[in-house]
Amino acid sequence: MQDVTSAATRAGSERAPVAPPVDLLRRLRARGAGDPVTHVERVPARPGVPVPWPDWTPEELRAAFAGRGVVEPWRHQTEAAELAYGGRHVVVATGTASGKSLAYLLPALATLLTDPRATVLYLAPTKALAADQLRAVAALDLPGVRPACYDGDTPRAEREWIRRHSRFVLTNPDMLHHGILPGHAQWSGFLRRLTYVIVDECHTYRGVFGSHVAHVLRRLRRRCAAPPRSAPRIPLQSGGGLTGGGGPAGGAGAVGGPVFVLASATSGDPATTAGRLTGLPVTAVTEDASPRGGVTFALWEPPLLPPDAAVEPAGADLTQVRRSALRETADLLADTVAEGVRTLAFVRSRRGAEVVAANARRALDEAVPGLGGRVAAYRAGYLREERRELERALLDGELLGLASTNALELGVDLVGLDAVLICGWPGTRASLWQQAGRAGRSGGEALAVLVARDDPLDTYLVHHPEALFGRPVEATVLDPANPYVLGPQLACAAAEAPLTPADLELFGTGAKEAVDALVGTGALRARPTGWYWRHRERPEVDLRGAGGAPVCVVEAATGRLLGTVDGGSSHFLLHPGAVYLHQGVSYVVDELDLADGCALVHPEEPDWSTHARDVTSLSVVSVRSYVDAGPVGLFLGEVDVTSQVVSYQRRRIASGEVIDTRPLDLPTRELRTVAVWFTVSPQALAAAGVEPPDVPGALHAAEHAAIGLLPLMATCDRWDIGGLSTAVHADTEAPTVFVYDGHPGGAGFAERAYATAEDWLRATRDAIAECGCESGCPSCVQSPKCGNGNNLLGKAEAVRVLDVVLAHLGAAAPAGD
Ligand SMILES: [Zn+2]
Ligand SMILES: [Zn+2]
Repeated sequence: MQDVTSAATRAGSERAPVAPPVDLLRRLRARGAGDPVTHVERVPARPGVPVPWPDWTPEELRAAFAGRGVVEPWRHQTEAAELAYGGRHVVVATGTASGKSLAYLLPALATLLTDPRATVLYLAPTKALAADQLRAVAALDLPGVRPACYDGDTPRAEREWIRRHSRFVLTNPDMLHHGILPGHAQWSGFLRRLTYVIVDECHTYRGVFGSHVAHVLRRLRRRCAAPPRSAPRIPLQSGGGLTGGGGPAGGAGAVGGPVFVLASATSGDPATTAGRLTGLPVTAVTEDASPRGGVTFALWEPPLLPPDAAVEPAGADLTQVRRSALRETADLLADTVAEGVRTLAFVRSRRGAEVVAANARRALDEAVPGLGGRVAAYRAGYLREERRELERALLDGELLGLASTNALELGVDLVGLDAVLICGWPGTRASLWQQAGRAGRSGGEALAVLVARDDPLDTYLVHHPEALFGRPVEATVLDPANPYVLGPQLACAAAEAPLTPADLELFGTGAKEAVDALVGTGALRARPTGWYWRHRERPEVDLRGAGGAPVCVVEAATGRLLGTVDGGSSHFLLHPGAVYLHQGVSYVVDELDLADGCALVHPEEPDWSTHARDVTSLSVVSVRSYVDAGPVGLFLGEVDVTSQVVSYQRRRIASGEVIDTRPLDLPTRELRTVAVWFTVSPQALAAAGVEPPDVPGALHAAEHAAIGLLPLMATCDRWDIGGLSTAVHADTEAPTVFVYDGHPGGAGFAERAYATAEDWLRATRDAIAECGCESGCPSCVQSPKCGNGNNLLGKAEAVRVLDVVLAHLGAAAPAGD
């Protein structure tokens, strides 16, 4: 995405031929006793589909792209560009390195060249990405565009020049929220002439953060008057590969305001997500027409340990029954390196990456002394130059193996490797392909291996390749109607300019109620001309939080502020004794001062991680929607959750072994949020063979696995959501499993779970049923987050509960609510 040279093929460097991936894989899987490979998918090489430049492309732009090696665009780039140039809001959701940047640069730059008044605003989730993109645009050297980054690092002296003269401003949502919109008077010239808003990597705007960004974009739209368009517009062309959206042409161009062009990783339903993010009808372009090399993709499930070898440390409540994914990945890395295969291993944590590299080095040195020196770990703490040096060494073959934490930290040139090992599901398909996309030299074949961790979702995925290689189902979710987001954002909007009734429509569902609430608290004053912000100071709103002031993380010895943690997560992440990771550096919390809202930490890198535990109770406030399926009920609604973090567990990073559980003394907290829940009548449970004494364990096991599988449907991780199960709940008067958003007001996860309940619960059922363990393990029904020490879990009974639920939900279709 960073590079515009999408259609240019990278010159393959001269390297010795390596074994074809199929042979390599055969040798790797023949090592142990059983076969750990659950599936092999051959992802064929795909030729690109180049198309001519749109005829509105200015000659100098064509020449500039040609100068950067782009001779012709790929079809999806032109499709998206044509839609945007025709005034339609568009999201291009295609794979890694498919050249999404050209899709938005083409219409934006063409307009800047032909309309000397037009301006463009580009938003990236990180400063680094904006800086990369600035380099790419500046390298095109187009007259009169004057691209510039405007963020917290921009020197004061340059800011005024940028506001007055730049026509292509690159920034991030935080700067838009804290800087540009509050100072909109100084930006009025730029905003009035704003023709395109580019939202890059828009799948990163999810959950509470995404909901805030959605309103920041609405505030932006409010400040933009319709710019006169002098650029020639051509009639819309229809093309293949369009899905979703489908509003009438000229939505934006016709009613004024900038055209939004969004770039997303591949995901489920990108048009709907982009529509929620912008509040506008958005058309999706999803058919990737860029070329790619062939990859043999293996799904790998570490073998079960022999029963007598199962690690069951004292005081533990998680039983390790499989070989750890880290050990398995280290062995694979050693084996591929021993074969002279240049391999990149992705591991989720920095410590994990180091463990993998160290174990691989040791194994190699035992085989051939000195060979271990050709494996390294890639640390986020390294300087940019040091990292580029490691990448160069790997590309040259000087290094053969590298263990790294995150694909996004790597340079864009680090592609064309012979093998990529992915230790644990990286959380989203977008990340998976971002990582696997590093494999595949031009014209050659590469190997990618996903090694499953002890986790229900990993287990499910290695047994359900269609979820990985078929159509994406996970959607990026956000909930702009969350009152805890909407209220503060309306306060910001009112501080920028009084709110009018027309604005309420712009901010959508719940806006009127939120404004009334702000009037009630005295923050806004209602006047005949609108609602006015009453204070001198602007509202302080954190885009990453909802409710509760953020907690500052301070290094005790130096007083240095390392960062902030959302108030809601602070008890979990910053309790005394917690290991806190900041940009890959490890700290341990000495003290959490809740009154001052700060945590004091010191740098330390212990070989354990910490996992907080809480006790929770829940009451139903209201039901928003439900499905009546006879003995089974499915509900979506508001709930109050009362919870207290009571202890934490220390677990060895390398083995996952539990060291101990330590008590904590923290106050209880209240959370009003959105939950999805299902009930099953005791009679239906008994008929399915789940007797009353087994009901609590059955529901508890189903709850854990359901939470573990929700990230399959919505881009969240299990730490964004919570759950509660009970054999009888005071509000439902039935056996019930609740799954709720862990953020005040909800962030869209429970809503997505409700909307996809059948698929979600079927996947949950299959993950449990297909796990080869005897009576429950971390790969199926045990949870690292359990407030209950994973006591009372019924694996077989959970499958029966879910079978009952699915049978009745299926019969109740179509769901009435
Ligand atoms: Zn299991
Ligand atoms: Zn539990």
